[in-house]
This record gives sequence, structure tokens and C-alpha cells, in this order.
Amino acid sequence: MTKVSLEIRQAGFCTASQHHALKDAERKTIRFYATFGLIHHPEKGCILFDTGYSMRFFEETKSFPYSLYAKTTAVVMNKEEEVVSQLALLGIEADQVKYIIISHFHADHLGGLNDLPKATFICSRKAYESVKGKTGWSAVKRAFLPGHLPADFEQRVRLIDFTSGEQDPVLGILVDVFNDQAIQLCLLEGHARGQMGALINTADRNFFLIADAAWLKEHYETEALPHGIVRLFFDSWNEYKASLKRLRRFYQANPEVEMVACHCRETFEKLKGKRF
Ligand SMILES: [Zn+2]
Repeated sequence: MTKVSLEIRQAGFCTASQHHALKDAERKTIRFYATFGLIHHPEKGCILFDTGYSMRFFEETKSFPYSLYAKTTAVVMNKEEEVVSQLALLGIEADQVKYIIISHFHADHLGGLNDLPKATFICSRKAYESVKGKTGWSAVKRAFLPGHLPADFEQRVRLIDFTSGEQDPVLGILVDVFNDQAIQLCLLEGHARGQMGALINTADRNFFLIADAAWLKEHYETEALPHGIVRLFFDSWNEYKASLKRLRRFYQANPEVEMVACHCRETFEKLKGKRF
């Protein structure tokens, strides 16, 4: 069994109403950090789980209808927070990023893809097919900005089918990315088509990066739901609720595993600045 190291970092944030994130919460503005995982694998090298925002977001949302995305989502981002800038400070060149696991194709997870020219992309086939070729309205509806995908995306992607793999009693099929149990992927449907979560095996503890299958820890702790308005851009409300139920069962059965909801500020504040 191979162990990797993991850091949780953020590349920008957007603000949103807490009342939308959590149905019965008070109406105050909260930050949704766009976090990503920086993973070091002893043989495979540098791997990212998502990439957060980049300054490209502002370019890509200048023209209609993409501008609607920027109008409804207040993004705060600066150049220093881009994933490549953060890697440079760590002495990691863009070419050294070998793999990027893309949880799903919402723009706040894809910002850095164009800056990492040697990386192989790993995503679910379902997720990619749900955005492939989409532009204009049909892209905006899926919170997808097509300019975030490199032109050679298809030559560099490994699409995961989730048709075979170890069966986890709660999470279903687990795909072992490098056949060494370092990183195992599962499907977490509902928020976005074909969204993936990742179980990460570090020497310190095991992590479960659940992307947007829950925005806040309260969601999987109590099965509390976001406000119904978010159904407008969720792929399937019923599948979202089913995934949340499974996450709660997993959380209860595996209290030693650190669950990381991508946008949960409390989780980020706890983990930031540490290398596990
Ligand atoms: Zn999302």
C-alpha cells in the first residue's frame, strides 16, 4: 500500500448566502473557498485534485452569456493565488504536475488546467460527456466555461468508467488510480453529472475529498440540505440526496477518515498550511 502526502490549499473564493448553502441558516454572506489538493506520490510525482479558480475566470466571463455566471457568482481571486503561482513558490514547475484529478467540470474546479501543460487529466467519462462540446447557454447552465479546457484535453485525458473495481459497501465501485491504494476514486452523483470523490492514503491519516457532494460539513454530519434554489444548477436533486446519505453513513462508519468538502471553510481553516 503506497502512501502519498496531501496539502489542502485554496485558489480564490466566491461569496454566497449561507441561507442558500444551508436551508435553515441565517441570511449572511459566507466565503466558498475554491480549494484543491496538492498530492505528492513517491513514484508518480506531483498530482492535483482540482485546481480552484484562476484569473482566466474574468476573461472567460466577459462576453454574454458567460457574463451571467460572473454576475451571479462574486469571485475574489488574485494572480498569487493561482495554482501555478503557489507551485512556483514551492519550487514546483508547471511541467512537473503529472496528473490532475478533475472532480467535476464546474468552473471553480478547472481554473488552472491551461497552466499545466504536461499533466494527464483524470475524470469520469460521464462528467466529461456531460460538458463535451457545450458552449453558450448549455455550458452556462452547467456552470461550465469551455475556455477552461485546454485544446488538447482529449489527447491528455484518462476517462474513468466505474464499471469495475473494488466494491465498497457504502461508496460502491472504487477505482484505484495507480493500483497501489494511494488514491481511490468513487462516484458522487447529484451535484454535477459524474462527479468523483477521492480517498487519499497518507502516512498521517486517510482523507476523503468529496468535492461538492456536500458544501459544508453540516451536510454530511446531519444530512441537512441546501436551499431548494440550488436545484436550478444541480444535476439531480434525488441523486444528490442519495449521495449525501451515503456520505453520512461513510462518515459514521469511518470516524478516523478526514472528510474534506471542497468549499467548507471550517474544514479548510483546520487543514490549511499543513502537509499530511
Ligand atoms: Zn460544483
